[in-house]
Amino acid sequence: MTIPSPQPLAAIGSFHAHVYFDGPAQRETALALRAQIAERFAVTLGRVHEGLVGPHARAMYQVAFDVPLFGNFVPWLMLNRQGLTVLVHTNTRDERRDHLVHALWMGEILDIVGPEHLAADMEPERAPPPNTQPTVAP
Ligand code: ZN
Repeated sequence: MTIPSPQPLAAIGSFHAHVYFDGPAQRETALALRAQIAERFAVTLGRVHEGLVGPHARAMYQVAFDVPLFGNFVPWLMLNRQGLTVLVHTNTRDERRDHLVHALWMGEILDIVGPEHLAADMEPERAPPPNTQPTVAP
């Protein structure tokens, strides 16, 4: 049996974290966490999706961030996600594998809806300019 050659880290253009919530109590927690993230990390916060947007199976918001931030931001989320389910995924050329294979789940593992609609060969998404202004240390 042979396994494929490892992919270089340079295949990763950026990361997303998706913070999911279900019901009013989790929504409140998720919004408080969102504010804490904005105070601490130079990331790009997406808007809060109360309804379902593919390929996500639960209400959520997205946090887009650049590769060098991973080592601080992801452990901080591990410590502070307050029981919320979080998906962290790479952004490579293969959006489908990013969500199905290159996925790091905290909490539950949720379904990825309609993976056939995700591109398997595209330009990797680079982190957009941050829209947050950290005011306190991580
Ligand atoms: Zn994403």
